Amino acid sequence: MMTVLYAYRGNLYVNLTNRCPCRCTFCLRQTKDEMDGCGSLWLEREPTVGEVKSELDRHDLSKYGELVFCGFGEPTERLDAIVDITKYVKEKYPSVSVRVNTNGLSDLINGRDTAADFAGVDAVSVSLNTPDPDEYLRLTRSKFGPGSFEAMLKFAGNVKKYVPKVTLSTVSTTITKKDEECCAEICRDLGVTYRIRPFE
Ligand code: SF4
Repeated sequence: MMTVLYAYRGNLYVNLTNRCPCRCTFCLRQTKDEMDGCGSLWLEREPTVGEVKSELDRHDLSKYGELVFCGFGEPTERLDAIVDITKYVKEKYPSVSVRVNTNGLSDLINGRDTAADFAGVDAVSVSLNTPDPDEYLRLTRSKFGPGSFEAMLKFAGNVKKYVPKVTLSTVSTTITKKDEECCAEICRDLGVTYRIRPFE
């Protein structure tokens, strides 16, 4: 059976796709099949929007802090599904917060400015990884090549117009304190929150 929804640390996660334009050197998919006993996150096929909605209806969403689009792939590869499912959740369970965890390359993936599609989402969390564009490409191995870092920052700045909480994050201990200060400055300039996530 495929794992489409999984509970993790008090939140409910939606695993929409295994597609991703990156091959990050640190991607958990290289070493794990699942997150702490939630079942394999490798999908036999992508779930339809209808299947995700039916699965959601089988859960008591009030038990969870947030509904998070994340999983073993880049959720914005299925942006239309995110829009549709978010609308459904907001209509049916208005008190539930919705977050999208993303590599921030939605505009490159979808070939257009996608920020407005995120209206209705409560939070977007983007992996910044590093303040350096060359290092970003070395780490993420984005198929879009040079310009990926700049596109990610542009997306973060634009999506802030539609989403109340936009966060750019790096992982603790993976970059120097000086680089963390540079990341904090990038976030200040964009008007978004900077978060240093614990190393897992
Ligand atoms: S963007 Fe996320 S899913 Fe894609 S390769 Fe990097 S860590 Fe893995």
